[in-house]
Amino acid sequence: MLPRHHQPIVAIATAAGRGAVGIVRASGRDLQPLIAGVCGRALGPRHATYLPFLDAQGQAIDRGLAIHFPAPNSYTGEDVLELQAHGGPVVLQLLLARCLELGRDIGLRLAEPGEFTERAYLNDKLDLAQAEAVSDLIDASTEAAARSASRSLSGAFSSEVETLREQVVRLRMLVEATLDFPEEEIDFLRQADAQGQLDAINAQLASVLDHARQGALLREGIRVVLAGQPNVGKSSLLNALAGAELAIVTPIPGTTRDKVSQTIQIEGVPLHVIDTAGLRELGAAGDEVERIGIARSWDAIGQADAVLFLHDLTRVGEPAYDADDAAIAQRLSPLAPRVVHVFNKSDLRAAPEGDGDGDGVAISAQTGHGLDTLRHTLLRLAGWHAQPEGVYIARARHVDALQRTREHLAMAHAQLQLAQPALDLLAEELRLGHNALAEITGAFTPDDLLGEIFSRFCIGK
Ligand code: GDP
Ligand code: ZN
Repeated sequence: MLPRHHQPIVAIATAAGRGAVGIVRASGRDLQPLIAGVCGRALGPRHATYLPFLDAQGQAIDRGLAIHFPAPNSYTGEDVLELQAHGGPVVLQLLLARCLELGRDIGLRLAEPGEFTERAYLNDKLDLAQAEAVSDLIDASTEAAARSASRSLSGAFSSEVETLREQVVRLRMLVEATLDFPEEEIDFLRQADAQGQLDAINAQLASVLDHARQGALLREGIRVVLAGQPNVGKSSLLNALAGAELAIVTPIPGTTRDKVSQTIQIEGVPLHVIDTAGLRELGAAGDEVERIGIARSWDAIGQADAVLFLHDLTRVGEPAYDADDAAIAQRLSPLAPRVVHVFNKSDLRAAPEGDGDGDGVAISAQTGHGLDTLRHTLLRLAGWHAQPEGVYIARARHVDALQRTREHLAMAHAQLQLAQPALDLLAEELRLGHNALAEITGAFTPDDLLGEIFSRFCIGK
């Protein structure tokens, strides 16, 4: 049997359900038997031919367009056949079954998720960061995320990483050459300005890391939790931010009993906003359901990137209300850098004069007053400072690899600063930094990581 990566594969490439057009796609080293059987004729390369797709009796299953992309000029780098039929689930299943039947002799099987793109990667059509961008483009939840995924797919991110990698390789070669001439090694490195080269690399790395962080933010967004006592306006704020009647707003305290979450976007950055059950001390009045709701709220708060702690301006000053707010504030204090105090219902009562250090935002969820300020506060807290136009999409995996590169290069830098650098340690740090960089584009990536990355794709891509 052929190794897995050489077996011909086939899948329905379009989304499940009904559509005007549906596509069955196959990829393999030689798809001639398939083409002859389904199309009943030869196909010109990369030419759309309208014809009947034939079943075993020579009857038409459907009529549509067939396109043959001979290797290597295809998405996967192998022979690819695309059959564009009518997009009904039964038609496409019949076509798929017909392909599998015809391909039995060449070992044709169903494709696994992401397997077409995995082949594109294995055949050097895309590097790993570009392959990931394919999936990120499909999954993009905002326009900014889609545009930046498209930028990564075109290689903008990869080429920055590649430039860095080449510079590190050059420095490595220099350092490793000196290892053979221990007498003059230090002078040699000084003359070649190894220090200057490393400084330039580090400056460049800092900029790529910053871009990647912004890109990861666009892809992954941040988790925002709305917290506060019952009836302060959490659900109203979620609705105002989302611009839709999503959470249940009611004047009875304690009606938002469970988490409601909604993804909104601010300047293209996705924010996953979770509305929580009102936090309050439960006396005899509270029931079990509310207790569970409150426990879940605290769980959500613990995992949030940002917490909006809402206060009701009309109740500030009431002893019982203030005491409960103080208790919540106390419990939130370890998370202080991630907490924003939001004073709601400013339409009913003005916010007290602040002390000017800007640690609270006055809003009205009802009139929309202050919401722009709140949005910008959230973006700042998320660490967003870019214009979406310049950003390419990135993943936490990329940010992590760049950070490890930075650590190794910082160690290399520290060695070079010494009067007597240990050149073997210097060489080793550069090697490790180089490997971490290479993980991004896939030049050096463990197999299990590859499997993990591609398994998250949809089938047929
Ligand atoms: P939650 O329990 O914290 O989710 O509070 P809700 O969003 O359910 O709001 C409780 C009550 O306060 C409702 O009657 C809302 O209409 C009202 N409310 C919320 N925000 C405002 C606001 O900014 N101004 C005014 N006047 N009323 C508000
Ligand atoms: Zn609510």
